[in-house]
Amino acid sequence: MRDLSDFESRIKRDEPMSRHTSWHVGGPADVYFSPRDRADLLEFLAVQPAGTPLFWLGLGSNLLVRDAGIRGVVIDTQSGLTRLERINDTMLTCEAGVPCARLARQCIKWGLGPAEFLAGIPGTLGGALAMNAGAFGGETWPRVRSVDVCDASGNARRRDAREYQYGYRHIVPPAPGEFFLAAALEFESRPGITDAAMRELLAKRKETQPIGEWSCGSTFTNPPGDHAARLIEAAGLKGHRIGDIMVSPKHANFLVNAGAATAADVLELVAHIQETVRQRFNVALTPEFHTVGEEN
Ligand SMILES: Cc1cc2nc3c(=O)[nH]c(=O)nc-3n(C[C@H](O)[C@H](O)[C@H](O)COP(=O)(O)OP(=O)(O)OC[C@H]3O[C@@H](n4cnc5c(N)ncnc54)[C@H](O)[C@@H]3O)c2cc1C
Repeated sequence: MRDLSDFESRIKRDEPMSRHTSWHVGGPADVYFSPRDRADLLEFLAVQPAGTPLFWLGLGSNLLVRDAGIRGVVIDTQSGLTRLERINDTMLTCEAGVPCARLARQCIKWGLGPAEFLAGIPGTLGGALAMNAGAFGGETWPRVRSVDVCDASGNARRRDAREYQYGYRHIVPPAPGEFFLAAALEFESRPGITDAAMRELLAKRKETQPIGEWSCGSTFTNPPGDHAARLIEAAGLKGHRIGDIMVSPKHANFLVNAGAATAADVLELVAHIQETVRQRFNVALTPEFHTVGEEN
């Protein structure tokens, strides 16, 4: 049995989470663990003291870490959960830390589709599974056939995709406290497919969204029958700024960090938008991003 000291070379302490989120916001994590691979990760989890708070991180593209950071252990999935393999003509297995963009490109090389939608999600497969991410009319879970999960103690098991319920940007797992290690995904055979359609979709998106700026993508989910961006713009909030966080002048559902925004600034602007839209249109906007960590 290994002990905690065996993992020191893969551990950073007081690691600023602003380095690991697309908003470039967030205080330090007590422990930031970058496993070598799945076996290393499961062994690490097995030696954690019971009750250690665990936080699973993909590419941090849907995440607000509060300014006082994370008391506990952050698992950096992109460092070690990186295997992507074809199983047969239409099925593949993909570990949770693989970026969706890599998965999309590899599917095209293998002549599999529809996978272009994955190119529009700047996160990992694990993050996409956690919220049923979707883009360009496609979404993650309809492609999933099974998932490998583990609990906080590193006990791994396989679950059939039918054990999960999913909907617009959310899932209902069959049990609490489980994390994604990998998934088996099924696509359709598309001989001769090229990346032209994917490039076109990405180029179109660049015309309307502030891609390349520091954001978490869409801030709020779309309320039934409407668009969050339309409501925010109609409420006169395009360009509204608190500290260094502002409603993007290009797309009102994106909040962009102009350089030194804090999590407190982000949460203040989010609350201001929610209150203004509620007063003007009687619509409650729900954040799409996840908020974690401690307040100052
Ligand atoms: C410019 C931009 C455009 C975007 N466009 C879209 C879009 O079109 N559609 C869309 O759906 N999203 C979009 N997003 C949001 C984001 O990319 C997705 O939500 C993505 O799925 C998040 O993945 P991630 O790896 O970055 O997850 P993170 O942000 O790292 O984590 C998000 C949540 O998932 C959990 N998580 C991560 N990995 C695991 C795991 N292995 N097991 C269990 N839980 C895990 C985390 O704990 C956290 O709660 C966009 C973001 C940006 C910045």
